[in-house]
Amino acid sequence: MRHFFSVGGESALAQVMCRKPLLAFDFDGTLTPIVSRPEQAFASKAVALRLHALSQLLPVAIVTGRTIEDARERLGFVPTYLIGNHGAQDENDPVKTAFLCEGLNPLREALQAHQAELAAAGVRVEDKGLSIALHYRLSRKRAQAVTLIHNLLAPLGSLIKVFAGKMVVNAMAKDAPDKADALRTLVQRSGASCAFFAGDDVNDEPVFAAAAEDWFTVRVGRDDPTSKAKYFLDGPSEMATLLDCMLAALSK
Ligand SMILES: [Mg+2]
Repeated sequence: MRHFFSVGGESALAQVMCRKPLLAFDFDGTLTPIVSRPEQAFASKAVALRLHALSQLLPVAIVTGRTIEDARERLGFVPTYLIGNHGAQDENDPVKTAFLCEGLNPLREALQAHQAELAAAGVRVEDKGLSIALHYRLSRKRAQAVTLIHNLLAPLGSLIKVFAGKMVVNAMAKDAPDKADALRTLVQRSGASCAFFAGDDVNDEPVFAAAAEDWFTVRVGRDDPTSKAKYFLDGPSEMATLLDCMLAALSK
Protein backbone atom coordinates (compact mmCIF):
# COMPACT_ATOMS: atom_id res chain seq x y z
CA MET A 1 0.00 0.00 0.00
CA ARG A 2 1.48 3.34 -1.06
CA HIS A 3 0.51 6.85 -0.13
CA PHE A 4 -1.74 8.30 -2.83
CA PHE A 5 0.37 11.45 -3.08
CA SER A 6 3.55 9.44 -3.65
CA VAL A 7 5.09 8.87 -7.07
CA GLY A 8 2.58 7.23 -9.37
CA GLY A 9 -0.66 7.67 -7.38
CA GLU A 10 -2.01 10.71 -9.19
CA SER A 11 -1.08 9.45 -12.68
CA ALA A 12 -2.61 6.01 -11.96
CA LEU A 13 -5.82 7.74 -10.85
CA ALA A 14 -5.83 9.91 -13.99
CA GLN A 15 -5.67 6.74 -16.11
CA VAL A 16 -8.61 5.17 -14.28
CA MET A 17 -10.63 8.40 -14.58
CA CYS A 18 -10.32 8.23 -18.38
CA ARG A 19 -12.29 4.97 -18.25
CA LYS A 20 -15.35 6.67 -16.65
CA PRO A 21 -15.45 4.69 -13.38
CA LEU A 22 -18.16 4.58 -10.77
CA LEU A 23 -16.88 6.77 -7.92
CA ALA A 24 -17.81 5.26 -4.55
CA PHE A 25 -17.04 6.47 -1.04
CA ASP A 26 -17.68 5.41 2.52
CA PHE A 27 -18.78 8.35 4.70
CA ASP A 28 -17.55 8.35 8.34
CA GLY A 29 -13.78 8.45 8.60
CA THR A 30 -13.48 8.78 4.82
CA LEU A 31 -15.26 11.97 3.77
CA THR A 32 -15.43 13.31 7.30
CA PRO A 33 -13.32 12.77 10.45
CA ILE A 34 -14.51 10.29 13.10
CA VAL A 35 -16.13 12.25 15.93
CA SER A 36 -17.09 11.03 19.40
CA ARG A 37 -20.77 11.81 18.73
CA PRO A 38 -21.79 10.43 15.28
CA GLU A 39 -24.68 12.90 15.05
CA GLN A 40 -22.09 15.68 14.73
CA ALA A 41 -20.48 14.32 11.54
CA PHE A 42 -21.18 16.28 8.35
CA ALA A 43 -19.27 16.47 5.06
CA SER A 44 -17.31 19.72 4.80
CA LYS A 45 -18.33 22.26 2.19
CA ALA A 46 -15.01 21.65 0.38
CA VAL A 47 -15.75 17.92 0.01
CA ALA A 48 -19.47 18.35 -0.79
CA LEU A 49 -18.83 20.91 -3.56
CA ARG A 50 -16.26 18.68 -5.24
CA LEU A 51 -18.45 15.57 -4.99
CA HIS A 52 -21.34 17.54 -6.47
CA ALA A 53 -19.14 18.62 -9.38
CA LEU A 54 -18.01 15.01 -9.93
CA SER A 55 -21.61 13.75 -9.80
CA GLN A 56 -22.38 15.95 -12.83
CA LEU A 57 -19.75 14.03 -14.80
CA LEU A 58 -19.75 10.45 -13.45
CA PRO A 59 -21.96 8.28 -11.22
CA VAL A 60 -21.09 8.96 -7.57
CA ALA A 61 -22.11 6.51 -4.83
CA ILE A 62 -22.01 6.77 -1.06
CA VAL A 63 -21.86 3.35 0.61
CA THR A 64 -22.10 3.84 4.35
CA GLY A 65 -22.81 1.98 7.59
CA ARG A 66 -25.41 4.60 8.45
CA THR A 67 -29.01 4.32 7.31
CA ILE A 68 -29.81 6.01 4.00
CA GLU A 69 -32.10 8.49 5.78
CA ASP A 70 -29.39 9.47 8.28
CA ALA A 71 -26.59 9.76 5.70
CA ARG A 72 -28.63 11.84 3.26
CA GLU A 73 -28.81 14.75 5.71
CA ARG A 74 -25.03 14.82 6.18
CA LEU A 75 -23.66 14.83 2.64
CA GLY A 76 -24.33 18.39 1.43
CA PHE A 77 -24.88 17.07 -2.11
CA VAL A 78 -27.12 14.53 -3.83
CA PRO A 79 -25.21 11.39 -4.88
CA THR A 80 -26.28 9.26 -7.83
CA TYR A 81 -26.60 6.25 -5.48
CA LEU A 82 -26.87 6.05 -1.72
CA ILE A 83 -26.49 2.63 -0.09
CA GLY A 84 -26.89 2.32 3.69
CA ASN A 85 -26.37 -0.26 6.44
CA HIS A 86 -22.91 -1.48 5.33
CA GLY A 87 -24.10 -2.35 1.82
CA ALA A 88 -27.44 -3.98 2.71
CA GLN A 89 -29.90 -1.06 2.44
CA ASP A 90 -30.82 -0.45 -1.18
CA GLU A 91 -33.83 1.76 -1.97
CA ASN A 92 -34.34 -0.21 -5.18
CA ASP A 93 -34.94 -3.46 -3.29
CA PRO A 94 -37.58 -2.86 -0.54
CA VAL A 95 -38.65 -6.52 -0.27
CA LYS A 96 -35.16 -7.74 0.53
CA THR A 97 -34.71 -4.80 2.90
CA ALA A 98 -37.79 -5.85 4.92
CA PHE A 99 -36.66 -9.49 4.99
CA LEU A 100 -33.18 -8.63 6.25
CA CYS A 101 -34.65 -6.34 8.91
CA GLU A 102 -36.86 -9.15 10.29
CA GLY A 103 -33.83 -11.44 10.42
CA LEU A 104 -32.54 -9.40 13.37
CA ASN A 105 -35.62 -9.88 15.58
CA PRO A 106 -34.01 -12.63 17.74
CA LEU A 107 -31.14 -10.23 18.45
CA ARG A 108 -33.58 -7.44 19.29
CA GLU A 109 -35.19 -9.73 21.88
CA ALA A 110 -31.82 -10.62 23.42
CA LEU A 111 -30.79 -6.97 23.62
CA GLN A 112 -34.11 -6.06 25.19
CA ALA A 113 -33.63 -8.76 27.85
CA HIS A 114 -30.14 -7.42 28.72
CA GLN A 115 -30.96 -3.71 28.46
CA ALA A 116 -29.90 -2.82 32.02
CA GLU A 117 -26.56 -4.66 31.79
CA LEU A 118 -25.71 -2.97 28.49
CA ALA A 119 -26.55 0.47 29.85
CA ALA A 120 -24.46 -0.15 32.98
CA ALA A 121 -21.46 -1.09 30.80
CA GLY A 122 -21.85 2.11 28.77
CA VAL A 123 -22.96 0.33 25.59
CA ARG A 124 -25.32 2.30 23.36
CA VAL A 125 -27.57 0.20 21.12
CA GLU A 126 -28.37 1.73 17.74
CA ASP A 127 -30.99 -0.21 15.77
CA LYS A 128 -30.63 0.79 12.10
CA GLY A 129 -33.17 -1.71 10.80
CA LEU A 130 -30.85 -3.85 8.70
CA SER A 131 -28.00 -3.67 11.16
CA ILE A 132 -27.65 -3.15 14.88
CA ALA A 133 -24.65 -1.21 16.14
CA LEU A 134 -23.40 -1.67 19.69
CA HIS A 135 -21.30 1.41 20.43
CA TYR A 136 -18.82 1.44 23.30
CA ARG A 137 -16.86 4.61 22.47
CA LEU A 138 -18.35 6.39 25.48
CA SER A 139 -17.95 3.42 27.87
CA ARG A 140 -15.58 3.83 30.82
CA LYS A 141 -14.89 0.07 30.85
CA ARG A 142 -14.33 -0.71 27.20
CA ALA A 143 -12.82 -4.19 27.64
CA GLN A 144 -15.75 -5.28 29.81
CA ALA A 145 -18.20 -3.74 27.37
CA VAL A 146 -16.70 -5.70 24.46
CA THR A 147 -16.83 -8.97 26.45
CA LEU A 148 -20.47 -8.37 27.36
CA ILE A 149 -21.34 -7.64 23.72
CA HIS A 150 -19.65 -10.78 22.41
CA ASN A 151 -21.20 -12.98 25.11
CA LEU A 152 -24.59 -11.67 24.10
CA LEU A 153 -24.05 -12.19 20.38
CA ALA A 154 -22.40 -15.63 20.55
CA PRO A 155 -25.60 -17.74 20.96
CA LEU A 156 -27.03 -16.12 17.80
CA GLY A 157 -24.01 -17.05 15.69
CA SER A 158 -25.99 -19.15 13.19
CA LEU A 159 -28.39 -16.26 12.42
CA ILE A 160 -26.20 -13.20 12.36
CA LYS A 161 -22.81 -12.01 11.17
CA VAL A 162 -20.77 -9.79 13.44
CA PHE A 163 -17.98 -7.39 12.53
CA ALA A 164 -16.05 -4.76 14.39
CA GLY A 165 -15.76 -1.08 13.55
CA LYS A 166 -14.17 1.87 15.30
CA MET A 167 -15.39 1.48 18.93
CA VAL A 168 -18.45 -0.38 17.69
CA VAL A 169 -19.57 -3.98 17.09
CA ASN A 170 -22.05 -4.41 14.23
CA ALA A 171 -24.51 -7.26 13.74
CA MET A 172 -26.48 -8.05 10.59
CA ALA A 173 -28.54 -10.91 9.18
CA LYS A 174 -26.16 -13.65 8.07
CA ASP A 175 -27.01 -13.36 4.36
CA ALA A 176 -27.13 -9.54 4.19
CA PRO A 177 -25.06 -8.06 1.33
CA ASP A 178 -21.80 -6.41 2.36
CA LYS A 179 -20.13 -3.41 0.77
CA ALA A 180 -18.37 -5.60 -1.82
CA ASP A 181 -21.76 -7.00 -2.92
CA ALA A 182 -23.17 -3.45 -3.05
CA LEU A 183 -20.29 -2.18 -5.20
CA ARG A 184 -20.69 -5.08 -7.64
CA THR A 185 -24.42 -4.26 -7.99
CA LEU A 186 -23.74 -0.53 -8.46
CA VAL A 187 -21.09 -1.06 -11.12
CA GLN A 188 -23.61 -3.15 -13.06
CA ARG A 189 -26.46 -0.71 -12.49
CA SER A 190 -24.40 2.30 -13.58
CA GLY A 191 -22.92 0.56 -16.61
CA ALA A 192 -19.44 1.67 -15.51
CA SER A 193 -16.51 -0.49 -16.59
CA CYS A 194 -14.59 -0.09 -13.33
CA ALA A 195 -14.75 1.64 -9.96
CA PHE A 196 -12.94 3.89 -7.54
CA PHE A 197 -13.59 3.17 -3.86
CA ALA A 198 -12.33 4.85 -0.69
CA GLY A 199 -13.02 3.64 2.86
CA ASP A 200 -11.42 3.63 6.29
CA ASP A 201 -12.69 0.64 8.25
CA VAL A 202 -13.04 -3.12 8.67
CA ASN A 203 -16.29 -3.20 6.67
CA ASP A 204 -14.56 -1.52 3.69
CA GLU A 205 -11.91 -4.25 3.43
CA PRO A 206 -14.20 -6.72 1.56
CA VAL A 207 -14.38 -4.12 -1.24
CA PHE A 208 -10.60 -3.77 -1.38
CA ALA A 209 -10.17 -7.55 -1.31
CA ALA A 210 -12.76 -8.21 -4.05
CA ALA A 211 -11.76 -5.27 -6.28
CA ALA A 212 -10.88 -6.11 -9.87
CA GLU A 213 -7.29 -5.45 -10.93
CA ASP A 214 -8.28 -2.25 -12.77
CA TRP A 215 -10.21 -0.70 -9.84
CA PHE A 216 -8.65 2.12 -7.83
CA THR A 217 -8.89 1.58 -4.07
CA VAL A 218 -7.88 3.88 -1.22
CA ARG A 219 -7.76 3.20 2.51
CA VAL A 220 -8.14 6.40 4.52
CA GLY A 221 -5.74 6.24 7.49
CA ARG A 222 -2.64 4.18 8.19
CA ASP A 223 -4.16 2.13 11.00
CA ASP A 224 -4.23 -1.20 9.13
CA PRO A 225 -0.94 -2.17 7.45
CA THR A 226 -2.60 -5.40 6.21
CA SER A 227 -5.26 -3.49 4.22
CA LYS A 228 -5.89 -4.78 0.71
CA ALA A 229 -6.33 -1.26 -0.70
CA LYS A 230 -3.83 -0.15 -3.35
CA TYR A 231 -3.22 3.32 -1.89
CA PHE A 232 -3.80 5.13 1.36
CA LEU A 233 -4.39 8.67 2.57
CA ASP A 234 -3.26 9.92 5.97
CA GLY A 235 -6.81 10.98 6.81
CA PRO A 236 -10.07 12.54 5.59
CA SER A 237 -8.36 15.95 5.52
CA GLU A 238 -6.59 14.85 2.30
CA MET A 239 -9.84 13.88 0.55
CA ALA A 240 -10.61 17.28 -0.99
CA THR A 241 -7.20 17.28 -2.70
CA LEU A 242 -7.78 13.76 -4.06
CA LEU A 243 -11.17 14.91 -5.43
CA ASP A 244 -9.39 17.83 -7.10
CA CYS A 245 -7.12 15.31 -8.85
CA MET A 246 -10.25 13.52 -10.13
CA LEU A 247 -11.74 16.77 -11.45
CA ALA A 248 -8.45 17.77 -13.05
CA ALA A 249 -8.19 14.38 -14.80
CA LEU A 250 -11.73 14.75 -16.16
CA SER A 251 -11.12 18.27 -17.46
CA LYS A 252 -8.26 17.11 -19.70
MG1 LIG B 1 -16.02 4.59 7.71
